[in-house]
Amino acid sequence: MHLLIRFPENINRAKPGYTNKNERGMMKIVTVIGARPQFVKASGVSRALSKYNGVEEIIIHTGQHFDQNMSDIFFSELDLKAPDYHLGIHGLSHGALTGRMMEQIEILLKEIKPDVVNVYGDTDSTLAAALAAAKLHIPVAHVEAGLRSFNRMMPEEINRVMTDHISDLLFTPTDTADQNLKAEGIADDKIFQVGDVMYDASLYYAEKAHATSVLMQKLNLKPKEFYLATIHRPQNTDTPDALRLICNVLDEVAKNVKVILPVHPRTRIKMQEFGISLKNVIGIEPVGYLDMIELESQSALIITDSGGVQKEAYFHRVPCVTLRSETEWVELVEHHWNIVLSPSEEIDMVSAIHHQAGVIGDNVQLYGSGKASEKVAEVLINK
Ligand code: UDP
Repeated sequence: MHLLIRFPENINRAKPGYTNKNERGMMKIVTVIGARPQFVKASGVSRALSKYNGVEEIIIHTGQHFDQNMSDIFFSELDLKAPDYHLGIHGLSHGALTGRMMEQIEILLKEIKPDVVNVYGDTDSTLAAALAAAKLHIPVAHVEAGLRSFNRMMPEEINRVMTDHISDLLFTPTDTADQNLKAEGIADDKIFQVGDVMYDASLYYAEKAHATSVLMQKLNLKPKEFYLATIHRPQNTDTPDALRLICNVLDEVAKNVKVILPVHPRTRIKMQEFGISLKNVIGIEPVGYLDMIELESQSALIITDSGGVQKEAYFHRVPCVTLRSETEWVELVEHHWNIVLSPSEEIDMVSAIHHQAGVIGDNVQLYGSGKASEKVAEVLINK
């Protein structure tokens, strides 16, 4: 447990030109994370921050994802330091989850009195931390700001929009994200285009993953002779019709090529609830990050509704099919690395999926140079 030290003068400082050191000369950065993709996103920034003298990063884990293969394995594989605080909040409705997280985070922030609170992506943990910090007048830094699906039915979209509008430092991955923020009236001087922190992680861990992962052998897979799939978005899992349609399509695809599906806990629960089982698809437990990026890089095609996995497909130059009606990562579609295929009985999804496996996208560099995390750390410390 973190040792609590009181620095009352550090709180309620004016924004955005906050002073970045307390009287000991230490800068305190609180990072709030709680869901699988956030562990990946935070790992590089955390590593970059650890190289600075006089900077203390304090990690609060909300507990949104909590078990071994959705949380613990990421801390060990990604060399993330153990959370200083673990709130253990999960399995509630959006309102209850966000509310309880806010309550607990507020208590901690009042004790810790950080110089800045750093949040990632678009989960309820992101919004809860941003709200709690903003109301204590603590500057908020949002990594992966400016992403928009323009679909307010998605809980993630609400979280993104709200978080961006109460953040002081907005770290964006792309020009599109910058434009989205500017179109919503966010001041230029808050926006820092740094590239994509997930790209940094995939570069940093690719070699280690290739050297250490034995999952391909365990599953008897040959490079480029299988498809990898992930499904977890509520719109695809939370009604029997939607989930059954997707499982049927994947089972049909799997008649011609092996399809590996690491099954997200939400999807597993819903499959059980709706009495849906997979016939041809090889369903496995969620895998750790190293196994996942090894599977991704060796697959012939990725079929997903994940935000992060769409990008990772491109990082490994693997074609991708996104089973949604839109994507935030529009440049992947523009450059033909991804197609958006809204699940429907009306179209031949199986043919469309197999067709995409043969498409090679444009030779472009879309998400920075692999130094996004270092740039985030630099701005956090020097701004
Ligand atoms: N991931 C993983 N194991 C899995 C599935 C995903 O390590 O079994 C990783 C994946 O490589 C990516 C992140 O989890 O880095 C994406 O998380 P998720 O799809 O849950 O969330 P989203 O990106 O949609 O917010």
